[in-house]
Amino acid sequence: MKNSELKNRDLDVLWHPCTQMKDHETLPLIPIKKAHGVYLEDFEGNRYIDAISSWWVNMFGHTNTYINKKIKEQLDTLEHVILAGFTHEQVVTLSERLVKLTPEGLDKCFYSDNGSSAVEVALKMSYHAHLNDGVKKSLFVSLTNSYHGETIGALSVGDVELYKDTYEPLLIKTVQTPVPADMSKEAAQVAALEFEKLAQKRASEISAIILEPLIQGAGYMHMYHPHFLTLVREICTQYNIHFIADEVMVGFGRTGELFACEKAKVSPDFLILSKGLTGGYLPLSVVLTSNEIYMKFYCDYNEHKAFLHSHSYTGNALACAAANATLDIFENDNVIEKNRELSKYIAKKLKKFENLENVAEVRQTGMVAAVELKGYKSEDRIGLKVYQYGLDRGVLLRPLGHIVYFMPPYIMTTQECDTMIDTAYEAIKAL
Ligand code: PMP
Repeated sequence: MKNSELKNRDLDVLWHPCTQMKDHETLPLIPIKKAHGVYLEDFEGNRYIDAISSWWVNMFGHTNTYINKKIKEQLDTLEHVILAGFTHEQVVTLSERLVKLTPEGLDKCFYSDNGSSAVEVALKMSYHAHLNDGVKKSLFVSLTNSYHGETIGALSVGDVELYKDTYEPLLIKTVQTPVPADMSKEAAQVAALEFEKLAQKRASEISAIILEPLIQGAGYMHMYHPHFLTLVREICTQYNIHFIADEVMVGFGRTGELFACEKAKVSPDFLILSKGLTGGYLPLSVVLTSNEIYMKFYCDYNEHKAFLHSHSYTGNALACAAANATLDIFENDNVIEKNRELSKYIAKKLKKFENLENVAEVRQTGMVAAVELKGYKSEDRIGLKVYQYGLDRGVLLRPLGHIVYFMPPYIMTTQECDTMIDTAYEAIKAL
């Protein structure tokens, strides 16, 4: 089969995510035949380095031998079973491990199957927990420039215009408090003060604050200091507001710790995980919360306090097997230490970008690095130009507007890293 053949069949019947489909009149759609390690390969043998971990999910490379083996074993044992009234070994083992690995005080796991639906779960649980305490608090606070997914509730707590504006009339009312303006500790203090003022005024209405710890991904890879998390934790405790940490993107080692909250040594009331949870293999998400919150729902059935939320594929056995395999690799391969080494290497390589005239800022937190460009309008679609330049040279970069970023699988070698970063550098120079 040729690339063009599958491309034509595709465009006849598919509608792709986050895409103006008309772009594909000129922009090539790339059919992938197979993948291994950091490489994707099309039907004509062209290879592309996956510099964005296939939408930030892949941790240990494509068709990872160990994860493949574990999923295959599970496939012959149990593929899926209803999780209401039933359970299975993979989901129990995974939950035990997650409770152990995540910050203290997170004792119970509630599963769903993607980041957005886990956000919905956390919002509903937070509201419902207060309600079971006899308090109606229906307001959610999030940070300016935040992104939490695209279902109605998740979009409501987001703040990126591009995704939100069109649907504004459909959304629930939420309030945004400023994200720290930059990575300094001072900016963290200034932003926390704003949140405290809001809490002072409206604590009786506020159920929770939801935020992306340390890095706002879809919010153009904006980064901030861990001190903000410490201060938010204090304010939340003081005003009886839940702290929801959305680590869908930053969880599982992206920031240099297994979980971003560890950088500030804080425990949120709800921790949301997805993406890297299965190593980038299968859709799965989880909300972790405390025994204290769990117990607010625990009573006789007729008291009507149960959390009656469900998804068909909750706790899917194959996805849980992939997640357990992923955690095995974290446990056995000294991943966080190796990540720190690779991110130091990336930091060194990024230095040269600072001398380019069209670069406004270079920033990095662990295994996420971003180069912010300046001097362009959105109509210039420079992101698309960088994307095309990369593809022509075998690197999948997918800039967010004027931000070129790197979020590679952790198994990337320094040579592959050179190709990825040097290609981006040449692309930016050629704009
Ligand atoms: N929260 C964050 C921080 C995210 O980055 C994303 C996805 N990019 C989501 C939630 C939504 O996850 P999903 O796309 O799996 O619904």
